[in-house]
Amino acid sequence: MNFENTLSFAKELDAQDPLSHLREEFLFPQKNGKPFIYLCGNSLGLQPKAAREVLGVQLDNWQNLGVEGWFEGDTPWMYYHKELKKLMAPIVGARPAEVCPMNTLTVNLHLLLVSFYQPKEKKFKIIMEAGAFPSDQYAIESQVRFHGYDPETAIIEISPRPGEYTLRIEDITARIAENADELALVLFGGINYFSGQWFDMPEITKAGHAAGAIVGFDLAHAAGNVPLSLHDWDIDFACWCSYKYQNGGPGGISGIFVHEKHFNDQTLKRFAGWWGYKESIRFKMEKGFTPEVGADGWQISCAQVMPMALYHASLKLFQAAGYMEPLRKKSITLTAYLIYIIDQINKKLGKAQFVVITPDDENDRGAQVSIIAEGNAKGIFQQLVENNVLGDWREPNVIRLSAVPLYNSFEDVYLTGELLLKICNAQ
Ligand SMILES: *Cc1c(COP(=O)(O)O)cnc(C)c1O
Repeated sequence: MNFENTLSFAKELDAQDPLSHLREEFLFPQKNGKPFIYLCGNSLGLQPKAAREVLGVQLDNWQNLGVEGWFEGDTPWMYYHKELKKLMAPIVGARPAEVCPMNTLTVNLHLLLVSFYQPKEKKFKIIMEAGAFPSDQYAIESQVRFHGYDPETAIIEISPRPGEYTLRIEDITARIAENADELALVLFGGINYFSGQWFDMPEITKAGHAAGAIVGFDLAHAAGNVPLSLHDWDIDFACWCSYKYQNGGPGGISGIFVHEKHFNDQTLKRFAGWWGYKESIRFKMEKGFTPEVGADGWQISCAQVMPMALYHASLKLFQAAGYMEPLRKKSITLTAYLIYIIDQINKKLGKAQFVVITPDDENDRGAQVSIIAEGNAKGIFQQLVENNVLGDWREPNVIRLSAVPLYNSFEDVYLTGELLLKICNAQ
């Protein structure tokens, strides 16, 4: 598409956008009586207007039913997660039995590593991307130590080539193949939180399996952002948070994926609790753990009904949007427009004021654009916030902006460009 850097062009794209009405379903934060242009859905998605109501329904159930709420009312809490499983599955390309809402993300990563990181003699190493989200680094280091290995030798990190910001798939698959004899696990982010690079998940999975390793993904920045086919890609396990692109609210409930092929594997270890016990006989309260079949068998504690209700409000909007295909279609154009607008600023300034480190190829990125700002980078970012544009900042000089197809408009992107140019001209 030939873009134009004008307000009328941006408004025309919004007028043609079949999803533009969904913006009305969200609440935008305000400052000085003016709503923010919110480009921070990669960090914390916006509150759906329905969130307060669905939470209210569960508060009413609690008030009116008390403990009977577990089995009575319109949404008995005992089975409430099943409703979410159905809504979550299309977002990540899974069967409902393969996903379950539970806990929070890093906790789930640990629980899945208990099952899927099984180092044995020579085969004990983990391959991951260098510069993974810190929580993942800490989780993996601690798991390695827990098994009695040294993170220095057990964890192989793959870095971009000198002078590059993102990883090449051939470098990833080559490292996996080279280390096949010693490799237990390949664990990657779906999309890297810093660069915004969407890794070639099917290729990484194939390479990992060819090396006789288990393959898992942390989808914090991918789930609800890009279309995924976890089942068909044959990924072993994955987890994500609901509060970034999926608008589940701060500290919101996380989701896990366990591939169906592992359902009957009796050798998988796991940390058990009563809520993972076979549902039909859970309340017999008998000795000896019998897991429920599927992802549900990884539950430990009783269902977190209130965070689930918040997640439910947002999942219904994904459903209303027609799930990932229409969202992705808009997202590709919206993000391409953002990258175009950044480039236009450089042209107007006659210098490389902003360097986009997120891959240009739409197949290698989601909604997030990571931008190195030259000169007074922090000052530029602060001016954005001062003027009601909310992105986020990563040391030492990176501004991350995400135009989210559920609630951002082409006009948001255009106006952000206008403001950035004004800020740079005044520097
Ligand atoms: C956001 C994010 C987290 C956060 O983990 P919590 O346990 O939800 O605090 C972890 N890993 C990745 C890759 C993330 O992007």
